[in-house]
Amino acid sequence: MATTRFDRRAFLFAALASWLAGASRGDAMTSNPVAESGGLANFERRFAGTVFRPDTSDYARLSKIYQARATARPALFAHCTSADDVRRAVLAAREAAAPLSVRCGGHSYAGHSLNDGGVVLDLSGLRSIEIAADGGSATVGGGTLAGMIDRATAAKGRATTLGQCPTVGIGGLALGGGVGPLMGRLGLTCDNLLSAQIVLADGRVVTASEEADGDLFWAIRGGGGNFGVATRLTFRLHPVTLVTGGFVTLRSADPRAMLHLYADLCAAAPDDLVMLGMLVPDDEGRPLLMIQVCHLGSPEQAAADIAPLVASPYVIENGVGRLPYADLQTQGPPEMPLLPSTNRAGFRAAFDEVAIDTLARALAEAPGPYMHGLVPLHGAVTATEQSKTAFPLRERGIAYGLTSIIAGPESLSPTRAWIAELNDSLRGSGPGAYVNVMGDEGAEAVKFAYGDNFTRLLALKNRYDPANIFRNNQNIRREPFH
Ligand SMILES: Cc1cc2nc3c(=O)[nH]c(=O)nc-3n(C[C@H](O)[C@H](O)[C@H](O)COP(=O)(O)OP(=O)(O)OC[C@H]3O[C@@H](n4cnc5c(N)ncnc54)[C@H](O)[C@@H]3O)c2cc1C
Repeated sequence: MATTRFDRRAFLFAALASWLAGASRGDAMTSNPVAESGGLANFERRFAGTVFRPDTSDYARLSKIYQARATARPALFAHCTSADDVRRAVLAAREAAAPLSVRCGGHSYAGHSLNDGGVVLDLSGLRSIEIAADGGSATVGGGTLAGMIDRATAAKGRATTLGQCPTVGIGGLALGGGVGPLMGRLGLTCDNLLSAQIVLADGRVVTASEEADGDLFWAIRGGGGNFGVATRLTFRLHPVTLVTGGFVTLRSADPRAMLHLYADLCAAAPDDLVMLGMLVPDDEGRPLLMIQVCHLGSPEQAAADIAPLVASPYVIENGVGRLPYADLQTQGPPEMPLLPSTNRAGFRAAFDEVAIDTLARALAEAPGPYMHGLVPLHGAVTATEQSKTAFPLRERGIAYGLTSIIAGPESLSPTRAWIAELNDSLRGSGPGAYVNVMGDEGAEAVKFAYGDNFTRLLALKNRYDPANIFRNNQNIRREPFH
């Protein structure tokens, strides 16, 4: 298989650097006053752990999240190093009637890991990885980053499905679902969750699994941070060493041509092959489709399955080769620049003529730079019944996350309008979206995202968190919430 070296990092960084020149970076973050919730004066006494208040370097560091547009200023960050710390922090915030957020990897597109005037649980003190002696599972702390887990499991010739970005937190990733290069064969991150220790809204600490607290275990596999704080998670591991993978970049004079090719290939892809796509503009504004290929089968089978892609006339860079899975997982930038963006998400069972035409027309009129993720769902993901876990998308098709970069204050409203219109036109007739790539879209959008699973999620939310203590997330509630 021909392999052209493609320095994706250099490409992405160059593109992002130019986009960000002049972009609004949420500078207000450093100047907004903190509107502290009244009862937090005694927080330190109740929490009895390390607290970072404004005007400290730790506060400034933790206030920076991937969503650079977020300007919220919490009263404090509570640095948690144990489930007991989390329990005391939840109860202290609750007693103070203060807003509560959870910050794991800080990659929430909606900026949910901050809040105004309240408490943020900083889970960076909960980073740990223990691999079982038989290599069959890994137990990680609730603040661990995905890349740390990939590295530790790779050293044992094992892996579980994680995403493409090493700095995403396992808490947000796993509880919302978790899509990544291994999912066609091995399922989602949440499909590989065996058990989780959860601190509930009333301060109880429980371990949920198929055997115990089954309803809670159902809800946390896709239901996000709505039900409590995960302080330990155990995942099934699989033997994964060499894969066939890398990035292939396509460009066609009419973007419809490359999108058709991609849609056809995804519709026919075997379980061993995952092709995660990302649409970005090149330096002249023409859409590029960057595809991360990962094939778990034999080199011969991989070559045969990938041939129609790499032989396509639209390929401008082909970085596919045989490599350790861990190396594939480090081909993205080690630290994504923090981006001010507006986001929408949806799902298309059929990525057909209508969807492709809609997307191509919209890209031609984009008000600024974009990074639209295309996530083909098939294989082990769609072999699982929709009712088995809270994760709603179990039908073959393409989930997408639309990200438009806000290039300056004046571009906020046209960009928002453009992305909302694109999403409305792109969505298929059925419900569904991947909550982890949604923006701050409101309660109705969350209900729409969960489709048939929403009713059970709402009932469980009312059972486990009736006061909606855990509300800074893709929140499951009736609108208006009582
Ligand atoms: C650059 C980038 C790349 C991404 N790549 C992928 C990808 O390849 N695959 C994929 O599936 N997703 C991907 N995502 C989406 C990602 O899964 C979500 O943004 C996820 O919520 C981020 O989790 P976090 O812990 O980093 O974020 P945070 O902002 O820290 O947390 C987000 C929310 O998750 C909840 N949460 C986090 N930790 C816990 C915990 N321990 N217990 C309870 N609740 C918790 C909270 O509700 C919190 O508000 C990507 C996002 C970005 C920005």
